[in-house]
Amino acid sequence: MKINIIGGGPAGLYFAILMKKANASNQIRIYERNGPDDTFGWGVVFSGKTLANLRAADEVSHAEITKEFEAWDNVDVVHRDAKVSIHGNSFSGIARLQLLKILQRRAEELGVEIEFHHEIQDVESLRQDCDLLIAGDGVNSTIRLRYAEKFQPDLGVRPNRYIWYGTGQLFHGLTLTFRENSAGVFAAHSYKFNRSTSTFIVECDPRTWENADFEKMNAEKTLEYVGEVFAKDLNGYKLLSNNSKWINFLLVKNRNWFFENVVLIGDALHTAHFSIGSGTKLAMEDAIALAESFNQTTDVSDALTHFTKTRRPVIEDYQSAAFESMRWFENAASYMHLSPIELAYVLMTRSGRVTYDDLKRRAPDFISHYELATDSHG
Ligand SMILES: Cc1cc2nc3c(=O)[nH]c(=O)nc-3n(C[C@H](O)[C@H](O)[C@H](O)COP(=O)(O)OP(=O)(O)OC[C@H]3O[C@@H](n4cnc5c(N)ncnc54)[C@H](O)[C@@H]3O)c2cc1C
Repeated sequence: MKINIIGGGPAGLYFAILMKKANASNQIRIYERNGPDDTFGWGVVFSGKTLANLRAADEVSHAEITKEFEAWDNVDVVHRDAKVSIHGNSFSGIARLQLLKILQRRAEELGVEIEFHHEIQDVESLRQDCDLLIAGDGVNSTIRLRYAEKFQPDLGVRPNRYIWYGTGQLFHGLTLTFRENSAGVFAAHSYKFNRSTSTFIVECDPRTWENADFEKMNAEKTLEYVGEVFAKDLNGYKLLSNNSKWINFLLVKNRNWFFENVVLIGDALHTAHFSIGSGTKLAMEDAIALAESFNQTTDVSDALTHFTKTRRPVIEDYQSAAFESMRWFENAASYMHLSPIELAYVLMTRSGRVTYDDLKRRAPDFISHYELATDSHG
């Protein structure tokens, strides 16, 4: 089978690996507009369950990925200068660039051709030239736009702004920090992803953003301002920019996931708010589900139908949990009157996927502390 892939992100690379592994005679070419060492952002997070899926799909890349991991089991919530730790979770962080390098190497070893610095403009010619065209071209997908009438995308621009920084301060756990100043409430999502760097994503609601006057600030001033808001948490370390800019989160859904021989995967197909940390996981698990569909049948139309049927309920479930979580952060200001322990409890249960009973089992110390503080018994 001849497969063209637009986008050498986690979705496109991982699908190429799995399809080449399944059948070495598959002719697979990835077109990537960036170079092999360019990237945006800092680190990404995986849960223990995702790692098991990656191991089952390809042990070689799984071994490389886990060698580079920084693992932890705690979520820390910081509010009013107090830190509440909730253990019993399983997460690992890796630099996005490192993950991409591992996947690029593995794909090339297997015989996948990757054309870097090749931005695709003429999607239709590429589509005509292959049996299967994969649109793994990310959140602002050109292919989704080109065939918008077929895919019928639903794109929701969310009100909160966020900015993705790094820092040398190491956060040993998924740390959610809330700070208030005269402009409003800022939330930081941070975690270490190697021995010297943490991801540090900051978000705020539109009122806070306007009050702080970010529109009038250049990149340097913005970094300085945000650094001051979180000065106590950064412990003297600076925030690091990677062309970091304020962005509104884009919630992506599509009515149709494929037409004829073109299919969307990863962020081009769907997004889930970063507060549940699942974008890369979902992208790679899409690749697994799609490759498995081609194990069932080599007929492209049947395989894409199978992919949509099996994967859509999983994605809808994730998107609904991520939606609750995103809404929580959009309304973060309304929770600031809570004590640190109460805030930690509502945060942990915000998406509806973690219950009181789950927490009691996984983090009994936290629940005892919560019950003592609130005099509640679940
Ligand atoms: C603030 C923030 C924090 C996040 N944190 C996490 C996290 O903690 N954990 C996590 O798992 N995920 C996280 N994510 C999400 C994650 O970054 C994405 O979900 C993931 O990268 C999606 O993979 P993808 O392969 O679908 O797309 P991408 O990684 O976006 O890759 C798409 C690729 O396509 C290329 N491309 C686009 N158009 C063309 C074209 N016309 N021609 C050629 N190439 C093209 C791009 O250069 C890019 O390399 C976060 C995202 C944000 C914004």
